Amino acid sequence: MRLSQYFLPTLRQEPAEAEVVSHKLMLRAGMIRKLASGIYTYLPFGLRALRKVERIVREEMNRIGAQEVLLPLVQPAELWQETERWEKYGKELLRFKDRKEHDFCLGPTHEEVITDLVRKEVRSYRDLPLILYQIATKFRDEIRPRFGIMRAREFIMKDAYSFDADEKGLNRTYERVYEAYNRIFSRCGLRFRAVLADTGAIGGNESHEFMVLAETGEDTLAICEACGYAANVELAEVKTAYRYEEEPERPLEKVSTPAVRTVEEVAEFLGVSPARLVKTLLYVADGEVVAVLIRGDYELNEVKLKNLLGVDSLEMADAETVERVSGAPVGFAGPVGLKVRRLLADFSVRGLKNFVTGANEADAHYVNVNYGRDFPEPEFYDLREVVEGDPCPRCGRPLTLTRGIEVGHIFKLGTKYSAAMRATFLDREGKERPFVMGCYGIGVGRTVAAAIEQNHDQNGIIFPEEIAPFKAIVLTLGPESQLMETSENIYRRLSAEGVDTLWDDRDERPGVKFKDADLIGIPYQVIVGKKFLETGKVELKERATGQREELAPEEVVSRMR
Ligand code: ATP
Ligand code: MG
Ligand code: MG
Ligand code: MG
Repeated sequence: MRLSQYFLPTLRQEPAEAEVVSHKLMLRAGMIRKLASGIYTYLPFGLRALRKVERIVREEMNRIGAQEVLLPLVQPAELWQETERWEKYGKELLRFKDRKEHDFCLGPTHEEVITDLVRKEVRSYRDLPLILYQIATKFRDEIRPRFGIMRAREFIMKDAYSFDADEKGLNRTYERVYEAYNRIFSRCGLRFRAVLADTGAIGGNESHEFMVLAETGEDTLAICEACGYAANVELAEVKTAYRYEEEPERPLEKVSTPAVRTVEEVAEFLGVSPARLVKTLLYVADGEVVAVLIRGDYELNEVKLKNLLGVDSLEMADAETVERVSGAPVGFAGPVGLKVRRLLADFSVRGLKNFVTGANEADAHYVNVNYGRDFPEPEFYDLREVVEGDPCPRCGRPLTLTRGIEVGHIFKLGTKYSAAMRATFLDREGKERPFVMGCYGIGVGRTVAAAIEQNHDQNGIIFPEEIAPFKAIVLTLGPESQLMETSENIYRRLSAEGVDTLWDDRDERPGVKFKDADLIGIPYQVIVGKKFLETGKVELKERATGQREELAPEEVVSRMR
């Protein structure tokens, strides 16, 4: 591509509206332009970087057997009603009506659409596992779009969805995607880390985020260098299931119950929702009390607990252990949490009203329990409040805090969507079962922005080679025909060899060309200047290191191949 004909509007001045360096540089390097808040046009140079990331993503997704599809951006409300996300998703979901007054939305994510496709088309366990993905536009009406395409409203995401016959299959698929993500972000030249993550509006029971390490990142990560534990501190967010603050307190009451095994059984017996059950459960691993779990729904939480603690198996403590550790009689073991140091973050009970508690014994349950009134508020490990040096929830050694940009996010969904949407297949025995699903996102534009956030200097962008819009730029420093001819020759031969090359053939002063070349961050600069007229040599300059080498023109081609 000849720069004299290339649509690359660079800016000399710092754009005032940009807060972070990647946003500034993407505007200055003519990669993007804003159309409206959080809505951007990709110019040719920016689009090339996006396409490079997409190519890496495609290669690595295809390598693990994922198949590419393209799903509609516009989605009918009916699908979202099936999973109740039409009501629950909130304002990020942009809703509208068509001319027939039917409700639609712009897809912020595609679980419903893909589940609908698969429930109609996939019948048998023989067709599993199945991984489908797309690279497409998403729309989320973000409350605070900022940092350019890093947090946009319209943006490009790679989203993948997996369908397995059982948990075991899902675990294997998840592992493969996890490895694919490691390869993708390594190839993009990023310094990153996978961390345990909250599942947010997508739901499900286990999840990891891929975080590019950068001071300007919006997320805070708690990392234990000693044992490798790493988590987004958001993991500790109080679950929205607890919304009972409006309710008046009721008096504590002991109730008669049979001996029970599970929270669900207690809930059923008492006729309350499992979400209202706050059980204080002690967990034991290798004969040692390792954690206290305070909340219903513990089948699900055991998975998280095992991950957090890094253990393979957990048992619930028996009544004796409960009494010993809590110093309270069984059935009133609420304050047990105060006695155990290694508490969990994810199970906040602050401000809860009128809950049920008890132990695995007959007649050992109370209703209308109010924390703070009936039990002391248990001490819990709220990751959101951790400070540098706090003990690691897994090994107790000091945590370090660092900041990151979320570029990828993977989730084990389980049967959340398949059960709600009745997406089933026939297993080996001919029995109907819901698909066991996973979903896996990568922000394509955000990955480019994050790469720039990590790779730049005061002169501009320093693109990692694999995602650079061009690999080389030929700079012609003068109008002499010898310089023009040699430049064109190098440019043609590099291009013929498949090296993406830009040729700065503009009628501009050398200073301007150098400045622009450094700003746009192409990894190799081939400088054809006065020196060539004297010595027959051109210079090859590496943008990242500033290293220069003198070469004969034909050597450039073999060096760059
Ligand atoms: P965030 O916490 O930053 O809002 P998210 O958790 O809502 O992101 P996911 O639903 O996990 O996002 O989506 C998968 C990926 O899509 C994210 O990891 C991120 O790379 C990208 N992404 C999400 N929201 C945006 C956005 N507004 N602009 C650009 N990329 C985004
Ligand atoms: Mg979000
Ligand atoms: Mg997030
Ligand atoms: Mg996320």
